[in-house]
Amino acid sequence: MTVSPDLNLRSLRGVLFDMDGVIYIGSRLLPGVQQMFDYLESTGRKWLCVTNNASRTPAQFVEKLKEMGVRATPEHILGSAEATIGWLAEQIRDHGWPRGKVILVGQDGLKAALKQHGFETTQEPNEATYAVAGINFEVTYEELARCTLAIRNGARFLGTNSDPSYPSERGMLPGAGSILALLATATGVNPIVIGKPNPGMYDQAIRRMGLLPEAAMMVGDRYDTDIAGALAMGLATTGVLTGVCSRADFESAPTPPHLIVNDLVELRRAFEQADA
Ligand SMILES: [Mg+2]
Repeated sequence: MTVSPDLNLRSLRGVLFDMDGVIYIGSRLLPGVQQMFDYLESTGRKWLCVTNNASRTPAQFVEKLKEMGVRATPEHILGSAEATIGWLAEQIRDHGWPRGKVILVGQDGLKAALKQHGFETTQEPNEATYAVAGINFEVTYEELARCTLAIRNGARFLGTNSDPSYPSERGMLPGAGSILALLATATGVNPIVIGKPNPGMYDQAIRRMGLLPEAAMMVGDRYDTDIAGALAMGLATTGVLTGVCSRADFESAPTPPHLIVNDLVELRRAFEQADA
């Protein structure tokens, strides 16, 4: 375990967890997850899973966790679909952005979030005020064409997350960032992206927990998305070695995470020691 001297675990009131590579890999649960959540709850701390995966709804993530034996409620999950649409709703409510219809490239996660926030969707490029794009494992040329026309027509272009690829059993496959790149190339317009490492996602997450950034910690397996974004927002950070980054990757970063642990078992022990 590597610990920075300015980390005070005892003072933390909430913890954000990335999912893939921290909670699970594919359908395999990683060690110490339920015990970690139980410990945080038993000490009055909040926890929230924060994932750039926009394909599933929070209820679908809860179901996936349940199948692996982990208890969670939809309020414990913030996906980039929900974060993106929540952020858009906020721009309209608080910052004078126009109300309007949304054209999308996306799946259940985005569709459910749009419905929840009362947005009307459209297939007509001319009717769209916003074009929102994320991962769609069944994307068609026609969908991309309509979204392109809408953006060229002036619809504001938003992306859930810019991960270029994601790991699968077959190897690295195109992620949401690759779809955004296609649309950006076709239109000459770059999207506003909400997911990690952008502040939009962390902002939504911290607010959901009712905390200030300095009372929260982000736990992640990727430096460039999880850790860099959280550090920029003033959160404490923990790098875990169960996913993408190695100890050397974390340690050689310009600003390494405050804490580096092998897994969530070691993180829970660190909390227990700090609280004792
Ligand atoms: Mg991850």
